[in-house]
Amino acid sequence: MAAEKKIPYKMYLEENEIPTRWYNVRADMKNKPFPMLNPGTGKPVTAEDLTPVFCAELVEQELDNDTAYFDIPQEIQEYYKTFRPSPLIRAYNLEKALGTPAKIYFKFEGNNTSGSHKLNSASAQAYYAKKQGLKGVTTETGAGQWGTALSMACAYFGLDCKVFMVKVSYEQKPFRREVMRTYGAEVTPSPSMETNIGRKINAEFPGTTGSLGCAISEAVEVAVSSEGYRYVLGSVLNQVLLHQSVIGLEAKAACDKFGIEPDIIIGCAGGGSNLGGLIAPFMGEKLRGEKDYRIVAVEPASCPSFTRGVYAYDFCDTGMITPLAKMYTLGSGFIPSANHAGGLRFHGMSPVLSQLYHDGYMEAVAVEQTSVFEAAEQFARVEGILPAPESSHAIRAAIDEALKCKETGEEKTILFGLTGTGYFDMVAYQQYNDGTMTDTIPTDEDLAKSIAALPKVE
Ligand SMILES: *Cc1c(COP(=O)(O)O)cnc(C)c1O
Repeated sequence: MAAEKKIPYKMYLEENEIPTRWYNVRADMKNKPFPMLNPGTGKPVTAEDLTPVFCAELVEQELDNDTAYFDIPQEIQEYYKTFRPSPLIRAYNLEKALGTPAKIYFKFEGNNTSGSHKLNSASAQAYYAKKQGLKGVTTETGAGQWGTALSMACAYFGLDCKVFMVKVSYEQKPFRREVMRTYGAEVTPSPSMETNIGRKINAEFPGTTGSLGCAISEAVEVAVSSEGYRYVLGSVLNQVLLHQSVIGLEAKAACDKFGIEPDIIIGCAGGGSNLGGLIAPFMGEKLRGEKDYRIVAVEPASCPSFTRGVYAYDFCDTGMITPLAKMYTLGSGFIPSANHAGGLRFHGMSPVLSQLYHDGYMEAVAVEQTSVFEAAEQFARVEGILPAPESSHAIRAAIDEALKCKETGEEKTILFGLTGTGYFDMVAYQQYNDGTMTDTIPTDEDLAKSIAALPKVE
């Protein structure tokens, strides 16, 4: 073993070391993710099917399984410089508090006003929409981070932004809503009475607090029925994982620069974009047989797509208007309990990650809400950063791995993605502090019901 260099607490790259290309992990996958299907014809979607919904250039990225690298347009690189590079941090204080021989690192993506990694893809999607001469974009937001990120990017590139915000978050996070409006976005609670699908869901499930799948349906409906608008999505899609690869490329560059070799890479998984981005270059090495890493997805026990879902074609939304994607899913009719990690309340999972998981290239664990907040609090007290509930799922798993090392004496190197900050999640922290937080885990019957309603695909 080489003599160990003293690793600084915070490792920043230079501005000129920010990646200038995104990496497309699909290029190195032997088993490509399954194509999305047009629900009308049952055939793989074509560029023509997708261009009424998405910007043209993003459609190309979505469908390209072969090009390994995409140049990041200059304009996006310029915007990236306002919030990148993000630091890779050695969690010395957490290691000490745990008394673990493990070395813990995290890549912190919360250092921008949106408070999360989502700005990496929002800026790309807003840029391409503007370049295509569009008036605006529509989207959904769960916890509010994606909506905030998109509002910021739309303000920067000069686009209208209409956001459908999952009702539970809209009510719990009024300040998040005001941040979006400050950046010029129009924000509507979902399900709303402004769309056909919103009215239908409200009639069927009176008092529902909404879900990401339902808000997606509303945003798509408005995009396809409004001139000069397209829909943008903050996770799940191949293009979003592509944009998020900037996280992993930067993390890898910092690891190489400072002589860090992770054994275990951990990330929370809602739709899979931060995890897909963080692991991209590492997974590339693994797929090419150059290196091996343990890669762990962490999901909430209340919405356990990987660990209790099925690998099947399903709609990406509750309204069943999106293309069908083959993914680990709980069924598009599954409405998860009002878990505080809004960004992880999605019934499905990225098709890229689903295929990698299916092929055994990564693992998944599900963790319960109260144990997640326990980890969040422990982390906040020693490392200073107040983590987002979503991110804290990764913290929980990282702490658990570090505690295993304490038992076995192994000096493993753990890298996890700290996707964002939790300043707008104080209602959740309040419940945790008051001891009123609960853990809701769906029963097998709950899941069987929504899984039985999956669309039939030959
Ligand atoms: C949206 C979000 C997530 C989950 O989304 P992925 O697409 O799975 O990355 C995780 N953490 C934060 C802070 C988020 O905002």
